[in-house]
Amino acid sequence: MRGSMAGSPDMAAPRPGPPLWLLAELTYRCPLHCVFCSNPVDYARHDAELDTGQWLDVLAQARAMGAVQLGLSGGEPLLRDDLEVIVEHAHRLGFYVNLITSGIGLTEARAKALKQAGLDHVQLSFQDSTRELNDFLSCTRTFELKSRVASIIKAQGFPMVLNCVMHRHNLPHVGRIIEMAEAMDAQYLELANTQYYGWAWVNREALMPTAHELIQAEEEVNRHRARLDGRMKILWVSPDVVEARPKACMNGWGAVFMLVAPDGVALPCHSARMLPGLDAPSVRDFSLREIWHDSRAFNAYRGDAWMSDTCRSCDDKGHDFGGCRCQAYLFTGSAAATDPACRKSPHRGAVDAMLERAPQARAASEQPLRFVPNAARQAGLVYRGDANSLALSSEPEAAC
Ligand code: SF4
Ligand code: SF4
Repeated sequence: MRGSMAGSPDMAAPRPGPPLWLLAELTYRCPLHCVFCSNPVDYARHDAELDTGQWLDVLAQARAMGAVQLGLSGGEPLLRDDLEVIVEHAHRLGFYVNLITSGIGLTEARAKALKQAGLDHVQLSFQDSTRELNDFLSCTRTFELKSRVASIIKAQGFPMVLNCVMHRHNLPHVGRIIEMAEAMDAQYLELANTQYYGWAWVNREALMPTAHELIQAEEEVNRHRARLDGRMKILWVSPDVVEARPKACMNGWGAVFMLVAPDGVALPCHSARMLPGLDAPSVRDFSLREIWHDSRAFNAYRGDAWMSDTCRSCDDKGHDFGGCRCQAYLFTGSAAATDPACRKSPHRGAVDAMLERAPQARAASEQPLRFVPNAARQAGLVYRGDANSLALSSEPEAAC
C-alpha cells in the first residue's frame, strides 16, 4: 500500500473545496530528453503505469468531486494508444480537456480522432525558435516535425497554446520565439521561465540566466505585447528567485490542484514526489476523495500550522501561502522552511550565491550549442533519459 491516511489536518484551516484542476500524467515515457524536464529525476524507477480502466475510474472520481479542468500530460501522452479513449471518457464526463504535448506522434489522423473524441485544447511545446537549439535542448531532431504539428493542430480548429521553457540559452531569442508563435497563429504564448526542480535542478548551473538577461528579455516581451495589441496573449512570469518574491505555489498546497502520476501516486504539485517522508498515497489503494481530504500528504502543508514563525507572522501568507515547499526542500533540506526565494528567509544567501554564479557559468558555456556528440557534456548539461535517471537516483553515488 502506498501512502497513509493518518492525516493531521490543521484544524484552523478551512476544509478545502474540490480539486478543480486534475493533471493526469499518463506516462513518464517521452521521445525527447529535455534538459529542463519537470518529471522527477528518478522517473525511470516508477514505470508501472495505470491501465486504461484505472485512468477512466480516476477521471470519474475527480469529476464527481467537482473537478472541471483536465490536463493530459506526461512524459508524452501521445505514447498512450488509449489516449482517444481517455479523452472521449473525459469529454462525456464534462471535463474541459487540454492535451499538453511535445507534438511527437500527433499525425493528422490522430488529431482528427482526438477532435472527434472531444479534445478541447492543445498546448504544444517548443524548446526554441531555431532548429539548432530546439534539437540540442531536447536531444532529438524534432524542430521541423513540431512545426508541422502546429499546422495540424490549427487545421483541426483547436485553440493552441505554444509553450517555451526559458533559460540562459534561449532568452536572447525571445523576440524570435514570439514571432514564431505569431506566424503559427497561436492564441497564446506561454514563456515559462525555468522552475528549478527535476532535471532543471540537476542542470541549474548551466541554465540559470543573469538578472540582466531576464530584464532585457522582459523588455523585449513588452515591446511585442504593445505591437501585438492583444492579438496573441503572452504570459511571462519573472522567476521568483530573481524577484525575491515567493510564488503562490499551486495556489496553496492541496487547495485546487491534484496531480496523478503515471503509476497512480497522487500529488499536490508536479515536484512533490521527491519530498522525503511525504508518503504520497496511490489511487490504487485509496479513493480520490480519501486522498484529497484525509491523506497525510495532502494535509501536510495546508493552513499555517506547519509554517515557520517567519511565515506564520507575515502579512503575505494569505497571498503566497508560504511559497514553494519543493524549493524550500532543495535549498534547505527542510520542506517546511521559509521559501528561500523570500528575502526574509534565513537561507536566501544560498539563492543569491546561485544567482551570483550565473555570469561566470555563462562565460564558461559560451559556445555554439549544436546537436552533435558531446555538446551537452561540454555545456555542463545532463539530458533527461532512462540511463541518466537510473544513475542519478542510485544511492550513494550520483553519477553522470
Ligand atoms: S519536458 Fe521534454 S522530455 Fe520532459 S516530458 Fe516534456 S517533452 Fe518530454
Ligand atoms: S515570510 Fe513566508 S509568507 Fe512572508 S513573504 Fe516570505 S515566504 Fe511569503
